[in-house]
Amino acid sequence: MPLRIAGPIAGEAKPNHGGEPNILGCRGCTDCCHLSELSITKEEAERVERLYQSFPEPLGELQLRPDPEFDGWFLMKGPCVFRRLHTPLAEGGCRIYPDRPSVCDRFTCAYLLQLRREQ
Ligand code: SF4
Ligand code: SF4
Repeated sequence: MPLRIAGPIAGEAKPNHGGEPNILGCRGCTDCCHLSELSITKEEAERVERLYQSFPEPLGELQLRPDPEFDGWFLMKGPCVFRRLHTPLAEGGCRIYPDRPSVCDRFTCAYLLQLRREQ
C-alpha cells in the first residue's frame, strides 16, 4: 500500500510531530525535519558534522553520504538528529537554527504556501 503523506507537507493544518504552524511560521512543527533525506552542500555537511561532534543530545547518529547524482552535494539521513522533541513553541523545532542547512531555510510546505496565498 502506498505511504500516505499527511500533515503540513501535504497541505494539512495538523502536524504529525507537534507544533502549531500558522501564518506566522512553523511554530514548533518538525514534520519536514522527519523527511527521510535532505540534500545539503559539502560546506553544510562539514558544518553539521562539526556541530554534531560537540552536540549534547543528538537524536541518533548523524548519517551523511555523498550524493551519487550531484557532485559536491551530500545527503543527510532523516529524521534529523538536530530536531527538538517536545518543543515549547517559543523555542522552535530546530536546535541548530542559526546553522541549519539552506534547504531548511528555503523549504516552505504546502500548508504554509496555502496560508500565504490566502492572505
Ligand atoms: S515548513 Fe514548517 S510548518 Fe511546514 S512541515 Fe516544515 S516545519 Fe512544518
Ligand atoms: S537542521 Fe533543523 S530545520 Fe533542518 S531538518 Fe534538522 S532540525 Fe529540521
